[in-house]
Amino acid sequence: MSKSFDLLKPYLDKSAALDMALSALSFDFDTTAPKKAASYTHQAMAILSKESYDALMNNQVKELLDKCLNEDLTTKEKAIVLELQKIYDKLIKIPSELYNENRKLEREAQLAWEEAKEKSDYSIFQPYLEKIIENQKAFIKYREDDQLKGYDVLLNDYEPGFTVEVLDQFFELLKKEIVPLIEKVKNKNHKIDTSFLNRDFDIEKQREFSSWLANYVGFDLSRGIIKESVHPYTTQLHKNDVRFTTHYYKNQLDSAIYSTIHESGHAKYEQGIADNLTLTLVGSGTSMGMHESQSRFYENCVGRNKNFLGPVFNKLKETFPHQLSDVTLLDFYKAVNKFEPGLIRIEADELTYSLHIMVRYEIEKRIFNGEVDTVHLPTLWNQMYQEYLGVTPKNDAEGILQDVHWSGGSFGYFPSYALGSAIAAQIYDHLQSLMPIQEMLTTGDFDKIDEYLQTNIYQFGKTKTTQQLLKDMMNQSFDSSYYIKYLKDKYHAIYEEEE
Ligand code: ZN
Repeated sequence: MSKSFDLLKPYLDKSAALDMALSALSFDFDTTAPKKAASYTHQAMAILSKESYDALMNNQVKELLDKCLNEDLTTKEKAIVLELQKIYDKLIKIPSELYNENRKLEREAQLAWEEAKEKSDYSIFQPYLEKIIENQKAFIKYREDDQLKGYDVLLNDYEPGFTVEVLDQFFELLKKEIVPLIEKVKNKNHKIDTSFLNRDFDIEKQREFSSWLANYVGFDLSRGIIKESVHPYTTQLHKNDVRFTTHYYKNQLDSAIYSTIHESGHAKYEQGIADNLTLTLVGSGTSMGMHESQSRFYENCVGRNKNFLGPVFNKLKETFPHQLSDVTLLDFYKAVNKFEPGLIRIEADELTYSLHIMVRYEIEKRIFNGEVDTVHLPTLWNQMYQEYLGVTPKNDAEGILQDVHWSGGSFGYFPSYALGSAIAAQIYDHLQSLMPIQEMLTTGDFDKIDEYLQTNIYQFGKTKTTQQLLKDMMNQSFDSSYYIKYLKDKYHAIYEEEE
C-alpha cells in the first residue's frame, strides 16, 4: 500500500463521516423534523458542511494528493485519488472570489425564481439568469483544457464521455424517430381509460403496498427505509443504510407505485456498492445517467411491462378489492402506459419524457454557443414545445420557469435524465439476450437480473465510468438505437391492439 495514501486516509474518512452526518440530518429534515426546525437546523448543517469541505480542501491534503499521483496505487486507491483530484480541479481553477460571489448569486436567484414562478413572470428571474449564465461562461473559460471546451466542460461534470458530439447524435435520432411516432399514435389515445386510477385509495393501504412492492423488486428493507416527501428521492449514509422517499395521493394510485419502483431502482444500486468502497469518495453510483438508468430500468422496462404487472396487479387487487373490482390487468397495463404530450417535464410519460429534455438541451447549447440571449428564451422555449410536443405553454410558470435547475447554475445536468432512459433500454435489450427475462418477470423471480446488475454495475461504484461499464458488459459503447427500438415496439404494440 502506498504511504502517502495512508496519510491521506484520515482526512478522507473524516470528510466521509461528516457527509454521512449531513445526509442523515438532511433526510431527517425532509421527512421527520417539525416545520419550525429550519433555521437552527440549517445553521448547524452549514457548520458541518464547512467542516467537511475544510477536511479535504487544505494544503496538507493537496500535498498528499500530489504525492499519491506519482506513487503506485491499488485500483481502488487510484480511483479515490482521481476523484479527489477532480474535486480539486473544479474548485482550484476558479478564483475563490468569483466562486463565492456566484454562490451568493445562486441563493438570490433561487428566491427570484420562486417568486417569478409564483407570479408566472419571467422578467423577475431574467436578470438573475443572465448573470448566472455570465458566471458559468467565465467558469468554462477557467476550466477549459485541450479536450474539453465550451458547453462540454459543464456536461462533463455530470456525465463524463457524453459530449455535445455524442448528445447531438442522440437527440437528432429522437427528433427523427419519436416526434413522428407521437404524431402517429396520438389519435388513438382517447380509447384508453385511466379514470379508475383516480378513485379513492386509502393512504395507509398504499403505504403497505409500496413497502411490499419495494421488497418485491429487491430493495432490502433490513438495510434501508422508506419515508415520504413531496419530491421523492434516494440518499444513503452508506451501503447498509439506504433511504428513499415516495409520495401518496389518495386519488392517484399510480403515482406512489411508480415513484416507489423508480426510487427502489436507485436504492438497489446504492445497496449494491462493494463493501470496501462504501464511505469512500467512490462509494456511490458512477454518474447521474447511470443512476437514472437503474431507476428507469425498474420503473419503465420492468415496472410497466405486462408480464411484470401480472402478480403485482393481483396483489393490488387484494389490497383494493372494492376499488379495482371491475378493472382487468389489460386495463391497468394500458392505463399506466398511456401517453399524453404535456407541458410539464416531471409529469411526462415514458414516450414524451426525453423530448422535454431535448428542449432544455438545445436551449442550453444555444446559450453557451452565444446564439440566444436570455430575454428571448421564453419565446424559444414555447416554439420548441410546439414543434416537438405539439403543445404551447399558456404562461411562463408552465413553460420556462417550471424547473429549479438553472437558478442553481445546474447547466449540463438535464441530458442525464434522457440518457438514463436510453441506457436502461440498452441494458434491457442486452439482458433479454442473456436470460428469459419475460418468464422471470411473470413469476417475479428477479434473482438472476439482480445478480447480473450487482456483478456488472452496482458493486463498482465510481471506480468505472458509465462508458466503461457499458463496454465491459456488452462490448459496445452507448447506443441510442436500442432506446428508439424499445419505444417503437412498445407503443406500437399498445396502440395497435386498439385497431
Ligand atoms: Zn431518479
